[in-house]
Amino acid sequence: MKLALEQAQKAYDRDEVPVGAVIIKDGQVIASTCNQVIKANDPSAHAEMNAIRDASRHLASEFLVGCDLYVTLEPCPMCAFAIALARIDRVFFGAYDPKMGGVESGPRIFNSSSCHHKPEVYGGLKEEECGALLKKFFASKREK
Ligand SMILES: [Zn+2]
Repeated sequence: MKLALEQAQKAYDRDEVPVGAVIIKDGQVIASTCNQVIKANDPSAHAEMNAIRDASRHLASEFLVGCDLYVTLEPCPMCAFAIALARIDRVFFGAYDPKMGGVESGPRIFNSSSCHHKPEVYGGLKEEECGALLKKFFASKREK
């Protein structure tokens, strides 16, 4: 999660919503990236989506079986569904996102009948640090 936070800081430095994601397999980091929606001009370039793409490329597989995802913010519904499609084993997230989240909040994708893979989910890891960076970001936006 420390590495994911470093990635979130990179997004922050580029003036993007600061979310970072890391994918680990067999104790090795196979993807480490951040939110790049503005940089990539891509509304789907959330940290988790980028990490899933990188990890799938790395493993040359559409499935990320045996992989753990660390992300600084609760995944949104789009990312949660992509996590299920990728068959990621475990999801560790930092801050909860009652507004945009799709795991513990909103549609709770992993519990929906159209979702056919349910990873283990652990929320609230380094919650304060992850949330503080997001709060700092949105506070700076309101000042402008
Ligand atoms: Zn997302």
